[in-house]
Amino acid sequence: MTSSRRQDGDAENADPGALFSAERVEKAKATDPAVTRQRRELLEPPALQRHGPARVISLCNQKGGVGKTTSAINLGAALAEFGRRVLLVDFDPQGALSVGLGVQPHQLDRSTYNLLMERDVTLDDVLLKTSVPGIDLLPSNIDLSAAEIQLVGEVAREQTLARALRPVLNEYDFVLIDCQPSLGLLTVNALTASHGVIIPLECEFFSLRGVALLIDTIEKVQQRLNPDLKLDGILATMYDGRTLHSREVFSRVLEAFGDAVYDTVITRTVRFPETTVAGEPITSWAPTSTGAKAYRNLAREVISRS
Ligand code: ADP
Ligand code: MG
Repeated sequence: MTSSRRQDGDAENADPGALFSAERVEKAKATDPAVTRQRRELLEPPALQRHGPARVISLCNQKGGVGKTTSAINLGAALAEFGRRVLLVDFDPQGALSVGLGVQPHQLDRSTYNLLMERDVTLDDVLLKTSVPGIDLLPSNIDLSAAEIQLVGEVAREQTLARALRPVLNEYDFVLIDCQPSLGLLTVNALTASHGVIIPLECEFFSLRGVALLIDTIEKVQQRLNPDLKLDGILATMYDGRTLHSREVFSRVLEAFGDAVYDTVITRTVRFPETTVAGEPITSWAPTSTGAKAYRNLAREVISRS
């Protein structure tokens, strides 16, 4: 990650007074920053003649409920629509990514836990084909929470996931890792295995807290374990342009992180919770919805930045 991208490291400490400065409030009242923002030109993704090696991307934020899992599923599905081969890694013991793709986590014979902890278990033993063409899944369930503790005593404990993924990287174009809401050893494993990080950020004031700590963690992993790691981008989620609050927070995020913020903004809509119940991505469940279009646009940005 280049520090020049990060224009303001103290977003975490932003006090409400600074956030709601008179100037920003006036601006946000007058215009919707998600609409009026200058956008970068985007080309249609070129068709691929052959697949791999994969770009590995972690979706990471230690705050829960910010759209990590939703973004992993729907970005993955949109990348697959563009002909990319995608491996989704459920790296949260809650198993929400697995559920979102119609897999029942408690019924799994083997999960990411076995892949990490048992030497004779290979990735093929755990891998599931999903109902979405082009997407494979490494599912997880509550077993994975034990790995966090058991890994502590292992040699090269931070590299365990990277080592497990290495044999299949040439078969995929993207590997997306859905992290759990913490900065513990599992998340450090995900960051160590990744080329890039996407930070989903809910457009709500308290979301800014903690981002500085997350960026510090990314920088530490970059310095000590994985020099290739980059902050790919910050994705504004749960945006509601009708509320002054969303507009203010988003303009604050733009000020703090500038070009690192994706042009694509994910708006708040009940269609996302509905897709979880349906067990499929929004791109197939409601293909013409605003949410589906947004994740396709994000896929274009991700492909053009990778
Ligand atoms: P995380 O993985 O960061 O905990 P999730 O992706 O699971 O977050 O999202 C948390 C909840 O919010 C889920 O119920 C999900 O369906 C819902 N959700 C996600 N994105 C949106 C959105 N853009 N609008 C409305 N609800 C959303
Ligand atoms: Mg999640």
